[in-house]
Amino acid sequence: MATHTIVLIPGDGIGPEVMRATKRVIEAAGLSVEWVEVPAGASALEQGFNNVLPEKTLAAIASHKVALKGPVTTPVGKGFKSVNVQLRQKLNLYAAVRPVRSLPGVKTRFENVDMIIVRENTEGLYSGIEYEAVPGVVTSLKVASQAACMRIARYAFRYATKRHRKKITVFHKANIMKMSDGLFLNCSRQIHEEEYPNIDYEEVIIDAGCMKLVQDPAKMDVLLMENFYGDVVSDLCAGLVGGLGVVPGSNIGEDAAVFEAVHGSAPDIAGKQLANPLALIMSGVMMLRHIHEDTIANKIQNAYDAVLSDGKQLTRDLGGTATTDGFADAVITNLK
Ligand code: NAD
Repeated sequence: MATHTIVLIPGDGIGPEVMRATKRVIEAAGLSVEWVEVPAGASALEQGFNNVLPEKTLAAIASHKVALKGPVTTPVGKGFKSVNVQLRQKLNLYAAVRPVRSLPGVKTRFENVDMIIVRENTEGLYSGIEYEAVPGVVTSLKVASQAACMRIARYAFRYATKRHRKKITVFHKANIMKMSDGLFLNCSRQIHEEEYPNIDYEEVIIDAGCMKLVQDPAKMDVLLMENFYGDVVSDLCAGLVGGLGVVPGSNIGEDAAVFEAVHGSAPDIAGKQLANPLALIMSGVMMLRHIHEDTIANKIQNAYDAVLSDGKQLTRDLGGTATTDGFADAVITNLK
């Protein structure tokens, strides 16, 4: 019998390609696993489900607790609420954790980038509360609750402490959004002062923070922010270390965790074997650590580091000509 049961959501666009590659790498590295494959996104509708996030998919994650997810497309303007927003809210996956690191062999303008973005995942501007106040005027509500702000701040400080990180920087716009971002700041400050004075703490207004990020990203350590800022800043930070093909992520709750790359379904390159599977492979490595399979995780990390350093089997986004499967094959060949 397999040691682990993991829910697998291939997703849309490049999702199935990068998922196939990732699954091959994880299996070749020796994980004893039974995959429970379920749909989400546009492909769920194509398979005849009437929702982009079928009950069956939610139930599988709730039951097995761990999922590896490909990117999904939420059809725009058809009345469907985003799969990702639904998933994070319904399963209470309140913390998005996204490590952004310089990689061996991946040349960018910066070196020694090593930061972790911790993004609140359940409320803020992504609460989905929008309405037409009067014809021609629409409103989108930004929600901040004390419980969720305390929860994410505590998570970030606990994470930083466990990982021997030195500093947490909160990105905010409390000078304008005095109540919502003000609450986020107050909660972060309180957790720092009362529970984690061991970690350095700073608050930066997000526009200045973005400038600091692109001037000297190596100075940043753990970044803590609400939902929308975290979404935007994640892609910005991906650009500092080689792009969306190299940044993994996780969505963590008390009862379940879903691992997925930061990137989307990339319809512009879907089905062409051009996608870099590394971001999902790295998300798989985060998942392996979450299920305490550190030896297998390290094996995969060493293998992709070797492929990147060697530089002969890079995908197009990193300046090479390798296909999605070609990169995965190279990682498998380097597993030791
Ligand atoms: P995207 O991340 O899909 O693509 C942005 C750019 O990055 C594109 O040029 C794409 O080709 C490139 N890119 C992305 N991943 C890559 C990879 N692995 N290898 C090489 N190049 C890669 O963002 P988008 O185009 O704004 O969104 C497309 C769709 O994805 C939308 O429907 C959006 O809602 C969805 N989306 C889903 C998720 C998710 O499921 N987690 C996240 C973001 C966007």
